[in-house]
Amino acid sequence: EIISSIKLPMDIESETGSLRPEKFDDYVGQCETVETLKIAIEAAKMRNEPLDHVLLHGPPGLGKTTISHIIANEMGGHLTITSGPALEKGGDLLGMLTNLATGDFLFIDEIHRIPKAVEEFLYPAMEDYAVDFVFDKGLHARSHRYRLNHFTLVGATTRVGLLSSPLRDRFGIFRNLDFYTVEQLVSIIKRSSILLDVPINQDGAEELAKRSRGTPRIANRLLKRVRDYSQVRSKGKITTETVRASLALEGIDNMGLTPLDRNYLKTIIEFYHGGPVGIEAVSATLQEETDTLVDVVEPYLLKCGLVLRTSSGRKASVMAYEHLGIPCQRELF
Ligand code: ATP
Repeated sequence: EIISSIKLPMDIESETGSLRPEKFDDYVGQCETVETLKIAIEAAKMRNEPLDHVLLHGPPGLGKTTISHIIANEMGGHLTITSGPALEKGGDLLGMLTNLATGDFLFIDEIHRIPKAVEEFLYPAMEDYAVDFVFDKGLHARSHRYRLNHFTLVGATTRVGLLSSPLRDRFGIFRNLDFYTVEQLVSIIKRSSILLDVPINQDGAEELAKRSRGTPRIANRLLKRVRDYSQVRSKGKITTETVRASLALEGIDNMGLTPLDRNYLKTIIEFYHGGPVGIEAVSATLQEETDTLVDVVEPYLLKCGLVLRTSSGRKASVMAYEHLGIPCQRELF
């Protein structure tokens, strides 16, 4: 199932009001990844060859989809977007691959979730630009090799460890996206506020950046909530006070933690005496999917040092007790 298949004229996103950057010049941060990609793109263009396959990994909302749009844009290729769980059968992928022209891009989000049978189609497709299709079964089985045009696969994953090594090894460019600094988020917020036509001062942008969990998608989402609040309560201008007041209504605290983040920490501290505790036990107590906790909640808490992963399970750090205002009565380490 193709989620979307789009030709990317330079201004299509601005027409639809998207905040997604369309070229590397507007893409903030991830400097080493951007530099690697710029060099690879320039070299591929000089050789008149398609770009090597690219694998991007990192927590959600850090710009993996955005990079794939930019790469396709800069290379002048058509981008087809799908995701691992949407590719149920080999035929789903085959249909998509045979429709790609030379220089086109196939973006597979959550590539760690493609079924094994579909993954095996990808190996020859990536390596030899061909797919082997088997007709009939048993004695009558016949195999036919379809030639594919030279395309580029861009894979994105939040869990690179779940990718099989044959698949991982077929990517020529392999980059990790990291959380953004407050300064980088301030630039993203300022750019978005211009596109949304909402005035924000430096202090307001910094306050919002500090509460965005190092993630551009969250910064943009919160900017829209603060915009609504400021429009109704303070004549449209975003300041430190409007950011604080509107995000308090959203349940977001001064470190950017959401109610789910705080419940996760409280569960470890109050139910499991600070840990160590296995993730399945935490997810059962919280009644949340383990995948949501591992992919969405934990990366930022680990990055901030609020939670620690040990061989025997998750542990709340002293900082987590302090942040939640819970007295820490026992020796943690
Ligand atoms: P997911 O894997 O969950 O789809 P993602 O990593 O692909 O997440 P994107 O959809 O690319 O994240 O980014 C989310 C939004 O954040 C984009 O719409 C874009 O507006 C903004 N964004 C992401 N990265 C940047 C960046 N480096 N500079 C400016 N804006 C960015």
